[in-house]
Amino acid sequence: MAHDILQISPLPPFMLKALHEADYIVHDHTHIKDPGALSKVTAIVGTGSAKVDQKLLQMLPHVKLIAICGVGYDGVDVAAAIDKGITVTHTPGVLTDDVADLAMGLVLSIGRRIPQADKFVRNGDWVDDMFALTHQVSGARLGLVGMGRIGRAIAKRAAAFDMRIAYTSRQAKSDVSYTFYQTVTNLAANVDYLVVAVPGGDSTQNLIGHSVLQALGTKGYLINIARGSVVDQPELVQALKNKTIAGAALDVFWDEPIVDPELRRLPNVVLTPHIASATMETRQAMAALTLDNLQAFYEGKALPTPVPECQ
Ligand code: NAP
Repeated sequence: MAHDILQISPLPPFMLKALHEADYIVHDHTHIKDPGALSKVTAIVGTGSAKVDQKLLQMLPHVKLIAICGVGYDGVDVAAAIDKGITVTHTPGVLTDDVADLAMGLVLSIGRRIPQADKFVRNGDWVDDMFALTHQVSGARLGLVGMGRIGRAIAKRAAAFDMRIAYTSRQAKSDVSYTFYQTVTNLAANVDYLVVAVPGGDSTQNLIGHSVLQALGTKGYLINIARGSVVDQPELVQALKNKTIAGAALDVFWDEPIVDPELRRLPNVVLTPHIASATMETRQAMAALTLDNLQAFYEGKALPTPVPECQ
């Protein structure tokens, strides 16, 4: 039997193809022609940036599954979903390596100013000038805000660069030997590179604010591959303009895909368009896991990867 599902964010063509091949009737929320179709929908599919609020859920009386193709699900009102007997799934694990790879790429890019050096060569500036000296990454101090799947994978990579690793998380971990700091501010005061790897949402909103940036200091770099909401962006822009921190490398922003023009003009930043998991291999693995969750749901089997609140 074909099932009606609602697509609430853009999905890669290969994922849409797989959904069609699996016989799902996919309704695109932004181009819905027949509002009556909403009453037939039994599952929602979207990416990590998808917004699923009470208002949307009220329009979908028969939805029983929200399948997020991504590990972060801070755009989903999980409490409202649970209240309506809806389960939420996501795709943990399959994207961890890619996100950690990009985090290390950003550490190297901002520390060694690789994009700026590329621009220097392209512009022909090398002919008359020397590129300014940068800062060493090997052996530097790296602080992780979050020691979950991605935090651990970043730590593993940073260890190969002989970096001295410290972290903060809600609870200290007994199975890692890195230095634990109770607060983000204390962590920031003791590292050169502060890498954010916590979930978004209310509990981490603006976790990196004025005092954390002050503590990071004039030689410190901020790297954010988590969610834009975790960093107080206007405070960050001020800190970068006033050089009260050395620089920032960001994959995530407030109001994506619109990026504050002030931030875009700054010379001491590296900016990427939320691409931490954006490789063919990983996006295919994420799509496959999302389809596995959908299939299990419609076959009445145990869901492979429900979010922790729904376990
Ligand atoms: P995870 O395994 O659940 O780890 C999350 C970590 O954050 C845990 O160590 C947790 O602490 C810590 N944490 C949660 N709330 C905290 C708080 N208020 N203060 C301090 N630490 C807190 O998640 P993950 O798989 O590593 O993913 C992390 C996040 O990365 C995702 O939620 C997503 O938003 C983001 N992400 C971004 C991209 C991208 O494209 N840029 C791609 C994938 C993921 P405890 O261990 O003590 O509970």
